[in-house]
Amino acid sequence: MASAPFVTPLAAELADDVLERFLRYARIDTQADGSSTTYPSTAKQLDLSRLLVEELREVGLEDATLTKHGYVFATLPGDPAAPVVGLLAHVDTTSDTPGAGVSPIVHRGYAGDPIVLPGDSSRVLDPAETPELAARIGHDIVTSDGTTLLGADDKAGVAEIMAAVAWLARNPDVPRATVRVGFTVDEEISRGTDHFDLEEFGAALAYTLDGSGLGSLESESFAAKEIVITIRGRSTHPGSAKGKLVNSVKLAARLIDSLPADSLSPETTEGREGFVHPARVRGSTEETTITFIARDHDDAKLEAHVELLRRLADELVEHEPRARVGVNVEFQYGNMGRAIDEHPRVVEAAVDAYRRVGVEPVFEPIRGGTDGSRLSAEGLPTPNLFTGGQDYHSYTEWASVQDMAAAAAMVVELVKIWAEEPAAV
Ligand SMILES: [Zn+2]
Repeated sequence: MASAPFVTPLAAELADDVLERFLRYARIDTQADGSSTTYPSTAKQLDLSRLLVEELREVGLEDATLTKHGYVFATLPGDPAAPVVGLLAHVDTTSDTPGAGVSPIVHRGYAGDPIVLPGDSSRVLDPAETPELAARIGHDIVTSDGTTLLGADDKAGVAEIMAAVAWLARNPDVPRATVRVGFTVDEEISRGTDHFDLEEFGAALAYTLDGSGLGSLESESFAAKEIVITIRGRSTHPGSAKGKLVNSVKLAARLIDSLPADSLSPETTEGREGFVHPARVRGSTEETTITFIARDHDDAKLEAHVELLRRLADELVEHEPRARVGVNVEFQYGNMGRAIDEHPRVVEAAVDAYRRVGVEPVFEPIRGGTDGSRLSAEGLPTPNLFTGGQDYHSYTEWASVQDMAAAAAMVVELVKIWAEEPAAV
């Protein structure tokens, strides 16, 4: 089948470069490790970061540098009257799915059949279960071989930014804003901006290229807290434990069992519904800790989720007064929507850029956070734009070349728009 057309001539022009870069970056293992205490969490992420510094210099962004914390920063000079536009993506991949030995496959001119991945024939992309795939007949579809993730999250975003700035650098007469490129590490373990220096980055506004399907535009994220409940029981020799032993493992099971069964969990909610999620349990008779994450787009509701856990902890002590139960709550990130709302032009410009490449924006509240969540809260409004990648964090992750090219063309338009309208951010 002949391949599907591109959204604009510019997208067609950028497609080969985006795909080549994407395939090159996807093969580099950049898996993050949440159990590591180093920064970045794995040194191998820098293999890609260093390559990006080289490639940025090759296309003419001469000041490209790797900061001591592993960020890649670079400048594409533009109109000094326009605000400086930040373009961000993350080099790391999730630890949920293997990230070493990625062997991407390009399925040209997708004909609409199920795609069986050759490295593990039990992994199939079935258009009957994936309407986004069914809608992409004729597209060139990239997958892994089924034994690893693909890494479109977020190497699609990295490749699109690279192709867009390379094009802008080759076309210096096109009016454009100054761009600051930023490639971060450890986004997948929520440490992507731990050492991000906003002053050094120097942008007035920014966009992450870390969204998913064509058209998605995200300017709201979850607000997030982590709640660790520590239950202390009393261990004795089980042979002489009658009337003495207080088993914290059983108390932890009781607490988890008292959560609502049909609501308030990741597996029973969608859209704007929040949840309380027991993510990890560790312990033995004497002491058990349960690590929960609580998520909601609404701060008051997030607080109610935390209160629910406090109440369940109190009830546990009422049930077993000999137990000691501690509740420790930590803020993780806020909903970026409030900060972005103060700068409406930032989202409006993205909407204009989408429409210039013929893509209608679909506003979706993120059920998670991004690097933009914290950056927005810290004063750099940073909505999240589509990359064309789909089914992130899975063996069946995939991306359409046509959609990735649309994203790269949209980024070029966005940088042009900010030079046309040097209006207030
Ligand atoms: Zn991502």
